[in-house]
Amino acid sequence: MTNDQDQILRLLSDLIECKSITPDDAGCQILISKFLERLGFTVNHIRKDDVDNMIAVLGSSGPTFAFVGHTDVVPEGDVTKWSSPPFKLEQIGEKLFGRGTSDMKGSITCMLIAIKELVDKFDKINGTIIIILTSDEEGPAINGIQSLVTDELSAYKIDMCLVGEPSCKKIIGDTIKNGRRGSLSGTLHIKGVQGHIAYPQNAVNPIHIFAPTLDKLISEKYDLGNNHFPPTSFQISNINSGVGTTNIIPGDLKMEFNFRYSTETNANKLQSTVKKILDLATIDYSIEWSHSGEPYLTEDSRLLKICQESVESITNHKVAISTDGGTSDGRFMAKICDDVIEFGLVNETIHKIDEHTTIENIKKLKDIYHSILVKLFT
Ligand SMILES: [Zn+2]
Repeated sequence: MTNDQDQILRLLSDLIECKSITPDDAGCQILISKFLERLGFTVNHIRKDDVDNMIAVLGSSGPTFAFVGHTDVVPEGDVTKWSSPPFKLEQIGEKLFGRGTSDMKGSITCMLIAIKELVDKFDKINGTIIIILTSDEEGPAINGIQSLVTDELSAYKIDMCLVGEPSCKKIIGDTIKNGRRGSLSGTLHIKGVQGHIAYPQNAVNPIHIFAPTLDKLISEKYDLGNNHFPPTSFQISNINSGVGTTNIIPGDLKMEFNFRYSTETNANKLQSTVKKILDLATIDYSIEWSHSGEPYLTEDSRLLKICQESVESITNHKVAISTDGGTSDGRFMAKICDDVIEFGLVNETIHKIDEHTTIENIKKLKDIYHSILVKLFT
């Protein structure tokens, strides 16, 4: 093993050993800030409620490039099902096991080592590098990047931002994300009248009165999507009615659903379409909405072009540009930066038992990040 690899694995191992389940940072950011301070960064630690955030800055001139990430991880689940202890970096063959190896302590490690190589190699960096980290990405995501964007980060003009989320599907470098769909959730309550199943004339069955409307909600074409986004998708996650016995017509129905929506529509339009469909039927209903993220899209982007060139020269294969997947902190950064992309490790095992990555993937990602930094700053 080379010194280079040694250093990467040591840093990754130290981060994995911090049991940083959301919102607990468990010492990751102190460890990272010590590393960055040795490279000349100025670090600002910002605690918001139970969430740790940090902003580390090197340089003062433009252009300003930000790397955004999170130190928190999802819980390990049933620890007895893991092949190795989840909060210890375990190398088995070429694979590196541990909670956070892919999502996203591996990516943070690559970014730190790539920056160190840049600072070691070049006397002058023509621009500013900012590292923005939170311990609240896998949770409510309120006291993390979302809050930093409205408060502390408004003091910076960020030209380009790379979110280090695991964007790749099967192999390192197969996908860069240049946007994400929006997410809008709703909880619908339908009121009926409970009664004996043998006397339906004395009851109002909420399942029956809602069934035709349910079909309309499912078959509605909310939009057709565009070159970057598939059509908006409406999905039901839970639907509950009935008290568990077979001789009662239930008195109410509750349905939870979610829209993953494209840039062809917005939350207001979707809400009014749903209302229009519901109002066509004579049903007694109420609805609560929760909007967890607007969509964003980065087009004609300098960072995207540089990332694409770096990925293709290091991996020797063509990279896909995509907006699929769930929401990420990119949606918040897009409010203060026009050039936001997401690129990181392979997402196949994230949030699973036996989350892992490989030495090769880590090494390639570090080289890609380094290549991006060299193209941006030297
Ligand atoms: Zn993540």
